[in-house]
Amino acid sequence: MPRLDTIAAVATAVAPGQGGIAVIRLSGPVAEQVGQAVVRCPGRQEWGSHRILYGHVMAVDGQRRLDEVLLLLMRAPRSFTGEDVVEIHCHGGVMAVQQVMERVLEQPGVRRALPGEFSQRAVLNGRLDLTQAEAVSALVSARSRRAADLAMAGLDGGIQARITALRERLLDQLTELEARVDFEDDLPPLDGTALLNELQAVRTELLALVADGERGDALRHGLRVALVGRPNVGKSSLLNRLSRRERAIVTELPGTTRDLLESEIVLDGVPITLMDTAGIRATNDAVEQLGIARSEEALMSADLVLLIVDGHAGWTETDAQLLARIPNAVPRVVVANKSDLDGPPLPREVDVQFSALNGAGEDALVQVLLERCGAGDAAAIVLSLNTRQRDLASAAAAALARSHEVAQQQLPWDFWTIDLREAIRGLGEITGEELTEAVLERVFSRFCIGK
Ligand code: GDP
Repeated sequence: MPRLDTIAAVATAVAPGQGGIAVIRLSGPVAEQVGQAVVRCPGRQEWGSHRILYGHVMAVDGQRRLDEVLLLLMRAPRSFTGEDVVEIHCHGGVMAVQQVMERVLEQPGVRRALPGEFSQRAVLNGRLDLTQAEAVSALVSARSRRAADLAMAGLDGGIQARITALRERLLDQLTELEARVDFEDDLPPLDGTALLNELQAVRTELLALVADGERGDALRHGLRVALVGRPNVGKSSLLNRLSRRERAIVTELPGTTRDLLESEIVLDGVPITLMDTAGIRATNDAVEQLGIARSEEALMSADLVLLIVDGHAGWTETDAQLLARIPNAVPRVVVANKSDLDGPPLPREVDVQFSALNGAGEDALVQVLLERCGAGDAAAIVLSLNTRQRDLASAAAAALARSHEVAQQQLPWDFWTIDLREAIRGLGEITGEELTEAVLERVFSRFCIGK
């Protein structure tokens, strides 16, 4: 990817009728020139870095105004990418953005940015480390306050600092070992046990970070919960009550087709997509069968199935059938609703008693639900490694575990350094201290264009 190109992309979401303002971002050597060529600024406005200029984007004929814009120039290195950056703030929607973008792309030396290319340049120019670039992406995708908090912790350099500290502890040990390999006779003897203890201590911390990251996945990606139950047991009432805890911020964008049977809620910071699978019951009707097929799919794809029964009416044969339909591999929670009313004794399949009417049992329900999805104490996490970072941290932990074996076999020092170096390299890949094409590709290919 040649960094001599100037890249351009729309940095904001583009949709008809949406967004008062859109931002077109340019980065690279001719960004400023392009800005000057494309935007005509009236009067005596001073063209300078970190200033805002007002003007118009003109059509190729130089006569017709395409849009009224603000232009922000940020000269290198004081910009997001560390290169010259120009932002053109034009009107939102689709047409203005498209026309301005066309004008920009007509200029020599400019091309469309690839996904994540701005962030990638920021990393290559040392403006962001890899974990921060990933945090930007996580923040943009956050669907709950807690997910946004976690992303901000990463953006503030929390992951970077933790991993760097662990890596440095390993580097200290490596230095000691390497000195022994070269000058064993000139140095005091190395305390193998202390060394091993230190490596294992780092390993324990890595494993804890991995475990937190796994729990944090629920916060980041959310959970899909399928709602199952006979008519009138209180599914809608339960949904209504739970959705009052913390409203999910769901913006309906035109062009995104959302299943009408799905709703988004947030439970203790975890974004939950609730799928109503009312259609699950035996039928011969073709249309209904289609609905049932979809419901079965929803069951299969769910992280958890919430079976609601009517505690007032008591456990029925249909409830048992519904329970039996839940695929074995999928965790489930059985809720007896209407606990405010008396009812017959309930079987042991029932996990929680609940009342959608008065909210009794609500906390217990939320707790069981999150626990069964492995997101029990997700709200307490302060740092959350993403999958890439976790894979590397796990591999580093595994390498450190091998050092144990090496120690037990009493192999020479240089054998210890092999695993240690591998662990250090892995941690360096997390932060980007060890940057390779493959690492860059893995991180940035998943970004969207304009980031
Ligand atoms: P759905 O068909 O499963 O979605 O059930 P609804 O949520 O529409 O509820 C069916 C009926 O049960 C309604 O009349 C609700 O007011 C009532 N209901 C729901 N939850 C409770 C509850 O916890 N206690 C009592 N007493 N009534 C409830």
